[in-house]
Amino acid sequence: MLNPKAYALGANRSSIRDLFEYGCRRAAVVGRENVYDYSLGNPSIPSPKEVDETIRQVLQDTDSLLVHGYTSAVGDYDTRKAISDDLNHRYGVQTKPEEFFLTCGAAPALVSVLRALAIPGGEVLAIAPYFPEYKPFAEEAGLAFRVVPPDIPSFQINLTEVEKRITPNTQAIILNSPNNPSGVVYTRETLQALRRVITDKIMEYGHTIYILSDEPYRELAYGVEVPFIPQIYADTIVCYSYSKSLSLPGERIGYVYVPGNCTESKRLYAAIAGAARACGHVCAPSLWQKVIARCAHLRPDLERYDRNRRALYQGLTAIGYETAKPDGAFYLFVKAPGGDANAFSELAKEKDLLVVPGDSFGCPGYFRLCYCVSYDMIQKSLPVFQELYRQIKEA
Ligand code: PLP
Repeated sequence: MLNPKAYALGANRSSIRDLFEYGCRRAAVVGRENVYDYSLGNPSIPSPKEVDETIRQVLQDTDSLLVHGYTSAVGDYDTRKAISDDLNHRYGVQTKPEEFFLTCGAAPALVSVLRALAIPGGEVLAIAPYFPEYKPFAEEAGLAFRVVPPDIPSFQINLTEVEKRITPNTQAIILNSPNNPSGVVYTRETLQALRRVITDKIMEYGHTIYILSDEPYRELAYGVEVPFIPQIYADTIVCYSYSKSLSLPGERIGYVYVPGNCTESKRLYAAIAGAARACGHVCAPSLWQKVIARCAHLRPDLERYDRNRRALYQGLTAIGYETAKPDGAFYLFVKAPGGDANAFSELAKEKDLLVVPGDSFGCPGYFRLCYCVSYDMIQKSLPVFQELYRQIKEA
């Protein structure tokens, strides 16, 4: 006998992976340069050169047993101190190393926090469009997963719908800004208004509601402010990752930050550590902890993403496509001409153009484009978008 829920999760592939693998098969037939693959959010800018230099330095100046050994379950003190110092410097906050728990990226961070908050009957809210993995993470933790419908066309937060969906069982609201898949950055005004809605509900129900801020794209913003949410709402738990900011998705390094002044801070931190322990998610990769201890201050050079973003946004809107304002991350979320994003995706596939329908993000009728691709591919794909648009409008 097998666990049927685990089996279903493993056997039903994600539509994004399916598309990506389809693209690889097509590339073998028609050539990689003839497949316009916008399916997968794999960074396309190299890590800052200091990262590679630091790996070499760490290997040279640190005892090999230490480099490759277990660290403490929560992570090396020096790494947590470097992260804490960097945030304090950037945002003028007063974080402390003991408020950080190092993880293998954002995914285990989210899983650990959700498990720490999973009480019987507990619920978690996600704002559509949302990262599809939130649902299995929450449900496998034992939380009911509730969705706040999207705020179309701005893709900020639909506050009236948030208000309707907060119940006495709501444990947390997951936010992700800059957002995957919309590329939208929640404004300070939106976040302040959200705080008012949550605070009123807390007064009504008399229990804590945390914001769970999933921030792998925090550093990927193009000329707009990305507010640091714990400064707006004290009961915010941050899940961060270096997967996108330093282009290190395969290395698996990130953290949870539990602010010292949030409700039940110490108990919450202990519960997150306990949940991570129960999942075997302790002791993030030692070499990468040591690299981050020296590189926590680094930021990505966004020039190439920005160039892609502008080319794709301008190219598509000139054709007539409508999209959310792409101020952050490396995604564009586009309204499907004709209204059916699955039909659009299928039609596009026939022309070797791969786009992800919005259904799994909780937002049918839109499709996602990852523009962490080559500039050349964008230029070559625009006539294909044009042809599809004309075909659908004339049908
Ligand atoms: N959250 C969001 C919104 C993401 O887009 C991703 C990865 O694409 C993750 C979490 C998981 O990130 P990590 O690679 O750090 O586990």
